[in-house]
Amino acid sequence: MRIETCYFCSSKIYPGHGIQFVRNDCKIFRFCRSKCHKLFKRKKNPRKTAWTKAYRKVRGKDLAVDPSFEFAKRRNVPLKYDREFWNKTVEAIKKVEHIKTKRQNLYLAQRLRKAREVETARDIKAVQRDIAILNDPTEAIKAKKKRMVEAGIVEEIHESENEAEENMEVDTHWETNEDKLTYIKI
Ligand SMILES: [Zn+2]
Repeated sequence: MRIETCYFCSSKIYPGHGIQFVRNDCKIFRFCRSKCHKLFKRKKNPRKTAWTKAYRKVRGKDLAVDPSFEFAKRRNVPLKYDREFWNKTVEAIKKVEHIKTKRQNLYLAQRLRKAREVETARDIKAVQRDIAILNDPTEAIKAKKKRMVEAGIVEEIHESENEAEENMEVDTHWETNEDKLTYIKI
């Protein structure tokens, strides 16, 4: 019994699962599910498909280079059955698996820590830029307007101000109308 890996997503394929395709040059392509098989038939590149192991390794999201991966390599050396050797191998597999998961988790934690550092640096920068909001909100509005003027959104501000003035005028008309109405009513 051998646990194969999917050609497309690199997940484990247990006996009796998935499908395999043998190309006319005798190369065997194994797929864990129809999803991977379909994408292979559509000639999709696993390195460009975001959810595959290949994609993650290429972009440094997962641990790619580590001696713990050497154990899973295929060796074409026949071995005579030996009960003691078999037991030792099974125990070794468990230990290697444990070490591998530990290292992978460590790699992931380090990667996330770096991201958090970048995030905090960005937050500090944002606070330093908009420190006026914390001190005085009116000053903050002034600073924002100044920034908009610098960015070239000056005309829009003027337009909005004109609109506001027009609205004010309309409001005053309304008031006068109401006054008239009340006058008539009385
Ligand atoms: Zn797959």
